[in-house]
Amino acid sequence: MSPKTVLVIVAHADDMEFMAGGTIARMADLGYTIREVISTNNERGTLEPGWSGQFTADARREEASRGAQVLGVDPEIEFLGYEDGRLSETPLNELREKCMRAIRRHKPDVLFAWDPFTPYEEHQDHRAVAWAATEAASFSHFPLYHPEHRDEGLEPQYVGERYFFAKSPRDVNKAVDISAYIDRKVDALCKHVCQMQMLADADPKDFRPIIEAQIKAWAASVGRRHGFEYAEEFRRTRFNGIERWGRALGQTLADDL
Ligand SMILES: [Zn+2]
Repeated sequence: MSPKTVLVIVAHADDMEFMAGGTIARMADLGYTIREVISTNNERGTLEPGWSGQFTADARREEASRGAQVLGVDPEIEFLGYEDGRLSETPLNELREKCMRAIRRHKPDVLFAWDPFTPYEEHQDHRAVAWAATEAASFSHFPLYHPEHRDEGLEPQYVGERYFFAKSPRDVNKAVDISAYIDRKVDALCKHVCQMQMLADADPKDFRPIIEAQIKAWAASVGRRHGFEYAEEFRRTRFNGIERWGRALGQTLADDL
């Protein structure tokens, strides 16, 4: 096992924690370097009528950093600075270029992103970043895609492994046992006070029990399908699908998780 570099490209401050927090914490414990790119400023993520957009953005930026630290992710998060809730109005070309630049800067072996190929994703920001990140990772090793990046010293980067998550996942082929990491996932989520208060719809000072119960129920239902106490599941592709052909020949690739 050689430590890898992981890049998580998401829309919002808490997407990573929700969708892959246990897996990310497990990878961090394996010695992986993990970096996060958040596309929006998260300035609409509150139900508090008295909060301004700027106040909300500042609060959520801080929460994102705390959540990342709990999971073992580099707390220096890269924010692309787009307006929350309006990412889908950004031209795909532009967002893809931003994602490709991030890939070439952070040089990941592994990408985590929203899956663009699943149904029932109602958040426009998730849909937008899913396409941009996926397409960027598919072509970031082609030097003639955004050759201007080279002028900044950014080299083409091949992303061999991609974990896609979704609210309604399809074609799941990778389940990760997070039984030993479920508490860290809950801890990380609880750093996102703005979001957890909304979800718990409970005592704003004591939202942890209800969040913990909900997250454990979800992870347990995934775990039951895969033979683990708690799990997260993904559609994973490795080496542009070549893994599939190897399997047909009885060959398997090494797997850290
Ligand atoms: Zn989100």
